[in-house]
Amino acid sequence: MTAPKKRVLLLGSTGSIGTSALKVARALPDRMEIVGLAAHSSVDAALAQVAETGVKHLALFNDHAASQARSALPSTVEVYSGAQGLIDLVHAVDADLILVAIVGTAGLAPALAAIDRGMDLAVASKEILVMAGEAVTTAAKAKGVRILPVDSEHNAIFQCLESHHGNPVRRLLLTASGGPFRTLPTDQLAHVTVSQALKHPTWDMGRKISIDSATLFNKGLEMIEAKWLFDVPMSKIEVVVHPQSIVHSMVEFEDHSILAQLSHSDMCFPIQYAVTYPDRVPNDLAPLDFASLASLTFEAPRTTDFPALDLARHAGDTGGTLPAVLNAANEVAVAAFLEGRTSFPQIWHTVERVMTTHTVIPHPTLEDLIAADAWARQTAG
Ligand code: NDP
Repeated sequence: MTAPKKRVLLLGSTGSIGTSALKVARALPDRMEIVGLAAHSSVDAALAQVAETGVKHLALFNDHAASQARSALPSTVEVYSGAQGLIDLVHAVDADLILVAIVGTAGLAPALAAIDRGMDLAVASKEILVMAGEAVTTAAKAKGVRILPVDSEHNAIFQCLESHHGNPVRRLLLTASGGPFRTLPTDQLAHVTVSQALKHPTWDMGRKISIDSATLFNKGLEMIEAKWLFDVPMSKIEVVVHPQSIVHSMVEFEDHSILAQLSHSDMCFPIQYAVTYPDRVPNDLAPLDFASLASLTFEAPRTTDFPALDLARHAGDTGGTLPAVLNAANEVAVAAFLEGRTSFPQIWHTVERVMTTHTVIPHPTLEDLIAADAWARQTAG
């Protein structure tokens, strides 16, 4: 029997994850077909991707970019724009799987629309699960669609849990590289520059997630993401620093046995597995050579110097609107840091202050979450 080819709608196609997803599609033409694309404003890159994939549906969030694309493309290619354009794209395309790799929370509404249409959801955009994990997982359950984690840590845990036969989990151990400032003395954190913060030691990623990795907010967001994806309390989620980024995460069971997933740090691995799941398919990605790996080391995170982990744990434990507030305040603070308007430690100071002044709504509706997100952005700003 020939394996099914997945028709994939790719949101955030011009970014770091998006271009890796296209690489996987190129490598596995019998398993993956891109049937729709979305980006923000990178017209030239999006036009090249339309030419390569032959898709008939493209969304560009930015209106001007969308008009430019309409002028450049034949009328057989439908171009959508704005927030509604992302939803229209979801409704227009026949896909088995939507891969959401838009930075931030703009992917939430299209993800919910895709679930409603019965598409499986491959999620790279952790921010949508942090903001609205309950809404997304409840909707997926109601529609009987799968949520397939693309974040390498969650993809690793997903793989480790595949054969657990319902056995209870003792701990999920998320590995963290520690970022570029893992060993930087505390008193120097106030002086780090944007270019230093963007220089991730082991992963080549977009700008926002690179800063999140430097502050450890990325790992904090991932703790909350794990809570929703694997339905475990925050108390069972721990972070261990592993500077080589070879062990992508681990699961400990009640008998204290631990399963881990290992590979080189290349996002093509988790993207491929999310697309071909439950099949494992040969590829040209570099295999691990244990003889040439100098060492795999592990250490505790510096939670006092990098408060992001404790803030995220508090937000995840409290629940309600607080994770959405943490996420939105962090997005605003990261943007300000990238624009040179604030210092590195000011990112977590801002998040903490916004979280402290927020009145949590315990069981929020989607509207409550959107309002909390907007409030946090304004307050952080
Ligand atoms: P990038 O900044 O590299 O790319 C972001 C993509 O989103 C671009 O295609 C951008 O388009 C598009 N985009 C931004 N805003 C909108 C919008 N409103 N509507 C449509 N498209 C939009 O980010 P990454 O690829 O690094 O990260 C994407 C997501 O994946 C993030 O949530 C991140 O946390 C997560 N992730 C990333 C990993 C990585 O290795 N990079 C690893 C694990 C998770 P344009 O080019 O036009 O601006």
